[in-house]
Amino acid sequence: MGLVTGMCSLPASLDGRPKLLLIDGEWVPARSGRVFDSYNPSNGEVIARLAQGDKEDIDLAVAAARQAFQGPWSKFTPAQRQNVLLKLADLVEQNLGDLSLLDSVDMGAPIGHGLSDSAVETLRYYAGWATKIQGETVPNSNPGSFFSYTLKEPVGVVGAIIPWNAPLSSAIEKIAPVLTTGCTMILKPAEEAALSPLAIGELINQLDLPPGVINIVTGFGDTAGAALSEHADVDKVAFTGSSFTGQEIVRAAAGNLKRVSLELGGKSPDVIFADADLDAAVPGAGMAVFANSGQVCCAGTRVFVERPIYEEFVARVSAFADSLKVGNSLDPETQIGPIVSQVQLDRVTGYLEIGKSEGARTTAGGERLATGDLAKGYFVLPTVFADVNDDMRIAQEEIFGPVAAVLPFDSFEEVSMRSNKTQFGLGGGVWTRDVGKAHRMAAAINTGVVWVNTYLNFDPAMPFGGSKMSGWGNEMGQHSLDEYLNIKAVWINTGE
Ligand code: NAP
Ligand code: MG
Repeated sequence: MGLVTGMCSLPASLDGRPKLLLIDGEWVPARSGRVFDSYNPSNGEVIARLAQGDKEDIDLAVAAARQAFQGPWSKFTPAQRQNVLLKLADLVEQNLGDLSLLDSVDMGAPIGHGLSDSAVETLRYYAGWATKIQGETVPNSNPGSFFSYTLKEPVGVVGAIIPWNAPLSSAIEKIAPVLTTGCTMILKPAEEAALSPLAIGELINQLDLPPGVINIVTGFGDTAGAALSEHADVDKVAFTGSSFTGQEIVRAAAGNLKRVSLELGGKSPDVIFADADLDAAVPGAGMAVFANSGQVCCAGTRVFVERPIYEEFVARVSAFADSLKVGNSLDPETQIGPIVSQVQLDRVTGYLEIGKSEGARTTAGGERLATGDLAKGYFVLPTVFADVNDDMRIAQEEIFGPVAAVLPFDSFEEVSMRSNKTQFGLGGGVWTRDVGKAHRMAAAINTGVVWVNTYLNFDPAMPFGGSKMSGWGNEMGQHSLDEYLNIKAVWINTGE
């Protein structure tokens, strides 16, 4: 442990030395020698300098990943890959305190929320699959002459590009299936929050892994990220981020028609029926928007409330929003930390002004919190906008801040239709005591995940992905492996 901040202390790894790139098993500076600053959003201070990787560094990393893919890594047995995953899980578990602190200080995740062991669980879940990837024998129409079967083979060199809102778990969600399937990778973390992914790189170097299996290149999206997604020797891009950048990735991938999987943005509906248990629905739907300061892809930001309970719900969720403690992410009491950066702060406060000018009624928050010690950080009060209608920008566009749009509805049919009236299809929620209605609504919402009388539950065994502009493919769960595998059909002539 290093510097004491007056709250939790910062990890010792923040020792002032510039962070390097992990290429072919070695920590190296960017070829250009350039670096960039990483900030603590709770106070705007620079906490680290990172290597500014660019096309040249991506080229080196891709070459290393290709060599590793064809070299000793390809000889690892499934059981050996499983062991690698289990060892990495142990190392992440042993270092979870520091890794969580890094996310807390780098992107503002409140430290008091306790350690999330989802990264460890994810690695152990995938470890189990490493020994269970198998093809099939397939009956063909000429069995006397031909024997036919399929093999599942790793897709090859994977470029993984991740956002800043959950750096540790996002990095692990890409690394785990790569190791499971025998692929190799170049990970490009987000410029705003690369410290925990780099710390995972340190742990990876403690494994018995050939160099070049996992490479990490920090840098900017429009240079390093673009070079990776258009690279002719990358076989697949696994991207998590905004729908806008997802479109850029698809265009860049067209050059060699590499495989693409996309986990993108959302504007998810959370539907509260009049028969719901409001004691559960108020905090549940509230945290579905405000958790991680609203910087959650599947946040339930469009809260549809049935007319008879509309005013009561608005009053109660507004009181809930007002009760949340906003503060420095290293303060153990903090429930809502800062927005990740000045750029995102400006974006979120811009939407607060848009909501007011569109005629929404502000019933909680509605402004930046810039008092005392918090003035230098990027804090926004949990905000509730009532009297929102479907056509307002605050009901259609992803704000990625702690902003709930609360909309009244009158019937099941109406809310079924309106809940799908966006370009996105990521998450959704239903709150009701009527089990039949819960199932009907879960079926009606056109998204990748629906939660009933709960929200934001995740498990490595449950698939996660989006429809429409929210993405292509799934992460987590058994079927996510297919995103990293090619099927090969083999015919054997058994005839004379
Ligand atoms: P973003 O701006 O799209 O950035 C995501 C990543 O893409 C970053 O590493 C970024 O690099 C990189 N990038 C930017 N432009 C690029 C380009 N032209 N080519 C290649 N890479 C490029 O998204 P964000 O603001 O970091 O993250 C928030 C978004 O992610 C939200 O829309 C959220 O909903 C979505 N998200 C989705 C999921 C999901 O599972 N569906 C999960 C989490 C977040 P730099 O940061 O260095 O510029
Ligand atoms: Mg930062």
